[in-house]
Amino acid sequence: MKKKLLLHICCAPDAAWIPEKLEQDYEVTCFFYNPNIYPAKEHEKRAFEMRRLAEAKGYRLAEPPYDPEVFEQRTRDLKYQPEKEGRCSICYRLRLDETARYAQANGFDFFATVLTVSPHKLVERVNRIGKAAAEKYGVDYFPSDFKKEDGFRKSVEKSRKYDLYRQDYCGCESSLRYRQMFKNAGSQKFVPLVSGIQIGIYDIQSFRRWLDRKGLKTGFLFFQTVPTVAVFKEAYEERIFLESAENIEWRKRIFNKKGQEIREMNISEIANRDIFSDPL
Ligand code: SF4
Repeated sequence: MKKKLLLHICCAPDAAWIPEKLEQDYEVTCFFYNPNIYPAKEHEKRAFEMRRLAEAKGYRLAEPPYDPEVFEQRTRDLKYQPEKEGRCSICYRLRLDETARYAQANGFDFFATVLTVSPHKLVERVNRIGKAAAEKYGVDYFPSDFKKEDGFRKSVEKSRKYDLYRQDYCGCESSLRYRQMFKNAGSQKFVPLVSGIQIGIYDIQSFRRWLDRKGLKTGFLFFQTVPTVAVFKEAYEERIFLESAENIEWRKRIFNKKGQEIREMNISEIANRDIFSDPL
């Protein structure tokens, strides 16, 4: 008899090939639990697509109620953070804890998540949180990296094949807003990428004024020393991306790929120009 596996699903495209593959060895049940998705109508859209996929492929599907308040309560102070910071850890934990709890309560041998198929997710962190949830609820975790062997490309191809809705933002309100800002950056005549060791509110305000003078909607500030919550909040409100310096190369690659002009600067150039002159 095959062992029973509960597979957490974040969206239908990420589930397009994984349950089918796992079913060769296990009895798989998909588990769509995502209180992070904002707004409610987007949650319904993603849930509907998962139901449609499950029906077409004959997958078993469990769908607990949508409870966005639990996500909102736990991440309220972190909504200004960019993706992959602390808010995302809480988001992974919330979803994997509930998957583990449900697996234990319903006689599953172990649980897993399709989150690791996304190139935007931190696989090690997801697996670490999965293992912690397993210990907490007394059920085994199945660690994964579904991105391997072209896993993400396969998801994209399969979701096209089944004509699945493919969202263009991760899920929460912050990620929706960042997506909008990113689109704005893409429609600008150039994208400023500005780095600095320490970035404070003064720099955010300087940069905002500079962007306004240039008629630009948004720009990117990269920090080496993690700023305070107040600075993250300020950047969010001023529609500025505040990201770790580790992301510079990645961001450059994205804009280069789109053939978009980039200006790279140090924060001191923006600050000095703000005070003295503005030759750019
Ligand atoms: S960006 Fe994605 S993973 Fe991070 S908190 Fe938002 S929905 Fe969750």
